[in-house]
Amino acid sequence: MELINNKYQIDTIDVTRLPEKYGSPVYVYSTKKMTEQYNRLKNAFKTEVDLRINYACKALTNINVLKLFKSLGSGLDAVSIQEVKLALKAGYKPKDILFTPNGVSMEEIDEGIKLGVHLNIDNISILEQFGDKYGGKVPVGIRLNPHVMGGGNLKISTGHIDSKFGISVYQLPHLLRVIETNKMTIDGLHMHTGSDILDVEIFIKAANIILETAKNFKNLNYIDLGSGFKVPYKPDDYSTDIEEFGTEITKAYTAFCKDYGKKITLMFEPGKFLVSEAGTFLVRVNVLKHTLATVFAGVDSGLNHLIRPMFYDSYHHIVNVSNPCGRQRIYTVVGYICETDTFGWNRKISEITEGDILAFKNAGAYCFSMSSNYNSRFRPAEVIIHEGKDYLVRKREEMEDLLRNQIEIDFK
Ligand SMILES: *Cc1c(COP(=O)(O)O)cnc(C)c1O
Repeated sequence: MELINNKYQIDTIDVTRLPEKYGSPVYVYSTKKMTEQYNRLKNAFKTEVDLRINYACKALTNINVLKLFKSLGSGLDAVSIQEVKLALKAGYKPKDILFTPNGVSMEEIDEGIKLGVHLNIDNISILEQFGDKYGGKVPVGIRLNPHVMGGGNLKISTGHIDSKFGISVYQLPHLLRVIETNKMTIDGLHMHTGSDILDVEIFIKAANIILETAKNFKNLNYIDLGSGFKVPYKPDDYSTDIEEFGTEITKAYTAFCKDYGKKITLMFEPGKFLVSEAGTFLVRVNVLKHTLATVFAGVDSGLNHLIRPMFYDSYHHIVNVSNPCGRQRIYTVVGYICETDTFGWNRKISEITEGDILAFKNAGAYCFSMSSNYNSRFRPAEVIIHEGKDYLVRKREEMEDLLRNQIEIDFK
């Protein structure tokens, strides 16, 4: 979203027109921004790197977004069998889907194998069962935990010692014993150390641990370094320096391949980096409430539509698109849920009048995909802006959506 001639626009479309057309609240996604981010990551690596980007679709699963990334040449990272099925529906080939679930049953894994997708196993118990069943017939990857502290918030950190994710690199002897006894084919190693990684150095440290461990595996086709790139949230926020990152990782990768005697695929599976900034959430201000302590702007949405601020203390920049150049005043922006759902405290926003449209930035990743019907509210519509045109890609829910699957019984 950009301010052009005193109007907020997304790819030439006047933002204030969207709630008029599609109702409020509404999620809006720019394919232009998604494409830019995909290309930026791709171009951060030299062409001699055999690079594969798998979009981590849990961030935003609208089928059109999956299709867009497919058209850009991306693969897909799925964390559930349902995401696998969505990916197949979007046209991904099974071989372009990486299934990296955590703590799922053997039945779900069997289903994934039957569908022909590639699996990363994240615990020794499943590895043993998998090896017993498939032996070396189905090559699999292993999710390792390098035990490097990353992630902007403990809830989104996955690489530390208390994390439930991955198989500890310190369990390598046990891991190798299971693999050898079952004569398994391990064709990839994977790590994902969390979201919002603060500096490239920590990431490189974790990557080097994985590359060091990789020397124990003879049949590798890929190393998957996961994701966790930080995107900017505030106007002057820092973000992962992707170009520096690309240069540093390329060095480590090139040295590894030389040592390993074979060029293997280098994979990443970003979610947030690809879609966060492409999304904008538009809401309407229902009420302004002056209390002794603050001025509340109460909007027609809540934690049911956007839970990240309450869940992760995440920051979403908020602007008043109905009054782009007004006087800056201080507001606390809250939702309509019967629970404290504050989107932002003490925010400087250009003067709000009831009925104004506010835009929340960085609303592409983990916003709609984490939405619910709490308080029996409808989930919002989703709109995609593509090449200067807006498309409704998900209808706002209706009463019958709330009752779907409910079965009434007769109490008489
Ligand atoms: C969530 C997740 C990702 C994506 O993380 P982002 O911070 O959104 O880039 C990648 N890989 C796995 C296995 C994940 O669970």
